[in-house]
Amino acid sequence: MAAPGTDAPPTTRRLDYLEERWQGRSPERQRRLGAVIPLDGVEVLRGDQRLINFSGNDYLGLARDPRLITAVQAATERWGCGATGSRLVVGSLPEHLALEQELAAFCNREAALLFNSGYQANVSILPTLLDRHCRVYVDRLAHRSLLAGVQASEARWQRYPHNDYDRLEALLRQAPADSRRWIVSETVFSMDGDRADLERLTALARRYDAGLYLDDAHAFGILGPEGSGLATRNPEVDVVVGTFGKACGGFGAFVAGSQRLIDTLINFCPGFIYTTALPPGVVAGLRAAIALLPRLEAERQHLHGLAERLREGLQRLGYDSRSSASAIVPALVGTDARALALAAHLEAHGCLGIPIRPPTVPEGTARLRLTLSAAMQGHHLDQLLTALETWDG
Ligand SMILES: *Cc1c(COP(=O)(O)O)cnc(C)c1O
Repeated sequence: MAAPGTDAPPTTRRLDYLEERWQGRSPERQRRLGAVIPLDGVEVLRGDQRLINFSGNDYLGLARDPRLITAVQAATERWGCGATGSRLVVGSLPEHLALEQELAAFCNREAALLFNSGYQANVSILPTLLDRHCRVYVDRLAHRSLLAGVQASEARWQRYPHNDYDRLEALLRQAPADSRRWIVSETVFSMDGDRADLERLTALARRYDAGLYLDDAHAFGILGPEGSGLATRNPEVDVVVGTFGKACGGFGAFVAGSQRLIDTLINFCPGFIYTTALPPGVVAGLRAAIALLPRLEAERQHLHGLAERLREGLQRLGYDSRSSASAIVPALVGTDARALALAAHLEAHGCLGIPIRPPTVPEGTARLRLTLSAAMQGHHLDQLLTALETWDG
């Protein structure tokens, strides 16, 4: 049988200009898709090899939780596979409104609003809030969606060196007196696994009357009181975004804040208005996840214990793990070739650690970005540490 696509009709030449794009990218940096088959909450099948998954974001193992699966199935059977419309037309089922109320209560905020993904939230909320009078300061390591949102706005913006609050303060001080200042950051940084200093950020926001927009994607569910994240319950954070694709084991995102903020987004944010609502099953699964979060303290402790053991192990072996303080633990190796070699070595020892290379991370900081899950046992981590120990690269 022919491979898929080989019988496809010839294409036009109209996209040939894209070849230029490829000239700047070396062949070994070409990104490719490969199928991964989840076996349980811990192992995956890649090719014909079983691997312990140290690259996922399912920090609490909720993606496979029977309670979530039952909720997804029941809602799908009752209301169908899709929401059939955008939120402002016919896509707001009682499930959506209930989840938003539950999120607002969980985050101790006036209101919350669902978005279809974290990327879509950031890339569309920021241009809605920022106008040409705004001066925006963005952490250099902030997620691509935050940068894209700021770039798409009419605001003047600039990046500050990662977590360098002295520099941030200097920029805030220099901003013209009649400008509106904004600070944009993550709480847990997705590639280094380190944290922003919320005390300092809120103090700066207060002192310079700056809006504070924080993305809590990698903290929501696993850090903070009841797993509520590092920023969702902090009233000094004006806008907080959380995502459901990480610790909630699902899909989608939300923003929480004042009722006026949420009403403004419902009325003026194109990324909320002009898109189909999340499927009812997805929303029901998320409601189950949010209801569970306060009761998952033991799972969070177990997860943080695993992360601490991995950091200690990496330090003992001489790896730079940056200032990891989350379930994301990078092992920096420098060059692309070393990152690929280490990933291959781990794979030979039954562990999946995806190499992250420039341009996703700065030149010279290629790494394995290792992540942990509460579904793992100590022996899974032992296997990874043994594999790391036996690498002679
Ligand atoms: C994953 C992530 C996003 C994107 O969220 P999706 O729901 O996966 O689109 C946005 N911001 C941060 C910090 C993230 O880690």
